[in-house]
Amino acid sequence: MTKKNILGLNLRELETLALDLGMPRFVGKQLADWLYKKGADRWEKMSNISQKNRELLAREYEIGRFAYEQVQVSVDGTKKYLFRVDANNPQAKDKALYIEAVFIPDRERGTLCVSSQAGCKMGCKFCMTGRQGFQANLLASDILNQILSIDEFDRLTNVVYMGMGEPMDNLDEVLRSLEAITNDWGFGWSPTRVTVSTVGVIPQMKRFLAESRCSLAISMHSPDDLTRRSLMPVQNANPIGEVIEALRLYEFTQHRRLSFEYILFQGVNDSPRQADAVAKLIKGLDARVNLIRFHAIPNSELRGCTREQMETFQQVLEAKGVLRTTIRASRGEDILAACGMLSTKANNGA
Ligand code: SF4
Repeated sequence: MTKKNILGLNLRELETLALDLGMPRFVGKQLADWLYKKGADRWEKMSNISQKNRELLAREYEIGRFAYEQVQVSVDGTKKYLFRVDANNPQAKDKALYIEAVFIPDRERGTLCVSSQAGCKMGCKFCMTGRQGFQANLLASDILNQILSIDEFDRLTNVVYMGMGEPMDNLDEVLRSLEAITNDWGFGWSPTRVTVSTVGVIPQMKRFLAESRCSLAISMHSPDDLTRRSLMPVQNANPIGEVIEALRLYEFTQHRRLSFEYILFQGVNDSPRQADAVAKLIKGLDARVNLIRFHAIPNSELRGCTREQMETFQQVLEAKGVLRTTIRASRGEDILAACGMLSTKANNGA
């Protein structure tokens, strides 16, 4: 019999589980403390739960914690972790699927970029994960395990859902993981420490905004229909103009931030006309624009911009009234950990 994972369950579910096994309700709270506050990865560590109850739990459940299989360290200190997708994940059954998570240290900040899927369906032309194709939706436990099982868990200040996969395409499990991160019974983090990224799948994006208080990053990459279509197939069903109209119905503040991600491709989306169009499109929204250098991927005609070209684009944005812009520093390029470079195709044998 395949056992279910206990990691990823919320407090109410843990209390119900305890009652169903004939234990007092408070065992549910003890389990939440061990899983999320103390990071217990074995039943034996849960010392205030009786041995009899631990045995009962272990008979029906796995914890859902497992170690990373590999880690690579960049010259800039960025670390890329390789995890195998949990064998308890029904979509990974009998398959060896892998995902990556990237830890980015930056002075007092420590950010972890987590994956929400193995591979991805979205097919963005500039992304190695997109080339890999879709393999599996991760369970909430697969997502939380990436956070809990890296060497730097105690140093983490932020988590971004910008690794492999489109979070809105696995929204139930993503929301479940966010619940564990941001509730008092879980990690107890402020939602301001978590950002979820999307290419803009409108119905799921609306649900995310209704059900979570975490920040949102939209992968824009072009303000105009034809160019964006050529880069991102999602534009066909979710045009960026409609994504932005949907965003206007929500309030964004420093408590819930909105940002737009914009990878600059030479001669494709880097003209002053396009910078002007970006400024017009997002006018009135309280948002930051992050400009990102393209990291070349094999067999792609796309080329990145120089630093000077990126600064020129940034200046046009600022002149047109987009006052909060950043040229994002590239991290982990030497270990293929930078934006758009994650792929576990070789590990998966795909
Ligand atoms: Fe998927 Fe994101 Fe890559 Fe697009 S950029 S293919 S959504 S992982």
